[in-house]
Amino acid sequence: MKPQFEAAEFRKLPSVDSLLRRAELSPLVAEFGTGPVTAAARTELEAARDAIRAGAAAPTWERIAERIVSNLRAVETPSLRPVINATGVLIHTNLGRTPLSQAAQIAVIELAKGYSTLEYDLEAGGRGSRHRHPARLLSELTGAEDALVVNNNASAVFLVLTALAHGREVIVSRGELVEIGGGFRIPDVLRQSGATLVEVGTTNRTHPHDFANAISCHTAALMRIHASNFRQLGFVKKPELNQLVAIAQAHRADESPDRPSSVGPVQIPGIDDRAPAEPTLAERPEPEWPIVIDDLGSGTLLDTARFGLAAEPMVQSSVHAGADIITFSGDKLLGGPQAGLIVGKSKYISRLRAHPLARALRVDKMTLAALDATLRAYRSGRAATEIPVWRMIDQPAETVKRRTQQLQRQLVAAGLDAAVVRGESTIGGGSLPGETLPTHLLALDTPQPDTFAAALRQNDPPVICRIQNELLLLDLRTVLPEQDAGLLEALAIRMTASRA
Ligand SMILES: *Cc1c(COP(=O)(O)O)cnc(C)c1O
Repeated sequence: MKPQFEAAEFRKLPSVDSLLRRAELSPLVAEFGTGPVTAAARTELEAARDAIRAGAAAPTWERIAERIVSNLRAVETPSLRPVINATGVLIHTNLGRTPLSQAAQIAVIELAKGYSTLEYDLEAGGRGSRHRHPARLLSELTGAEDALVVNNNASAVFLVLTALAHGREVIVSRGELVEIGGGFRIPDVLRQSGATLVEVGTTNRTHPHDFANAISCHTAALMRIHASNFRQLGFVKKPELNQLVAIAQAHRADESPDRPSSVGPVQIPGIDDRAPAEPTLAERPEPEWPIVIDDLGSGTLLDTARFGLAAEPMVQSSVHAGADIITFSGDKLLGGPQAGLIVGKSKYISRLRAHPLARALRVDKMTLAALDATLRAYRSGRAATEIPVWRMIDQPAETVKRRTQQLQRQLVAAGLDAAVVRGESTIGGGSLPGETLPTHLLALDTPQPDTFAAALRQNDPPVICRIQNELLLLDLRTVLPEQDAGLLEALAIRMTASRA
């Protein structure tokens, strides 16, 4: 009986060809191509056969076609796609940190279109270095002698420690042995780089003499690390950067001058005196030890105090204080692409550039294009108006309130219930921990905020919001003004649907 039932049900299934000719599927062939539609049809027919073998009846042809359409649509929706950030977290690592400025977007498109001078020297008509592009602007903006850009700040820290402290000691305060998030722990990174961590001070208090007493002939660096995502209050002390610099300099002066100070690249006249190769690592002069490394985390080129926020350490101040190497992120408060920016003394930067890891951690042309456009906004003094993260920081609570009230009025006019309440936006991204900006929120009093939040995530584009005290809250500070209309539409559709 069973085999006969199966055979009869199998016979009811359409062939792939007859499926592809159906009215529902033929437009899909034009949209996705024959290959993907045929593959989807085969998968669906195979599933139907499995179901029949398990005792089910054959699905109708309509049902099979429907499933093929929805499977194809689901696969065609990229998993990486734009969303509306209504969380009020400005630097949101899960949502791609921050939007790029318009100039940076255009620069990326222009460069992506064709060939470029990425590693081409127009004057010499030959090979150039990709590293020279951001170096000049970064030096100009920060006052540093030289600069190097790598994939992100995590890799910047790793490169610096590997190239400058491998096999030697790095002194760090116990109050700064932090975990940044994403599993990036300073003690682990130090170990991976081949450097030895020397902890000094206590969790809450570290004195300049703690660093001074720990220096030995094995010391490569005194390192300062920004605490980023937490804050210590109360009985707390740590040395100023310029105190670390003074300690390091005092110890350098102590060193006996008997080690060879410089072994330049060897040049053989007549063999290749036109274009001297970059000296190899072994040929470079030994750095003077110990050096001072400052990992700023976010860092900033603009004074955050100007915007009513706590003071986030400025890159220029670290350069001015005399740090030898300073690392910071391209996509935190700088508001540019993901990148790790390293600035400092040229004798150390040139060692970093020559290290094999620099090749492994190098950035691509689109990152360099976006970074260049972002840095230009700082040079022209227009960063606060052109770079989205600064525009959001600078947006007065009153402006957010007006936009939120307008959205609320439109929802109420559509017969939907929403209120405007006071709240706080946060900076996020491991910068300015605990610092908030006063804002106004759209509050939706729905019986099941979790379900409604999930529905908003199903929207195209998805809307990401927050839930607090059973209220669904949307902060327009992080919603780009051109997204207001899309947000209204999403809310109206989903709210109407949830009432039905
Ligand atoms: C964020 C952060 C990093 C890592 O920077 P990414 O650009 O995210 O790789 C490293 N150090 C500190 C102190 C940070 O705050």
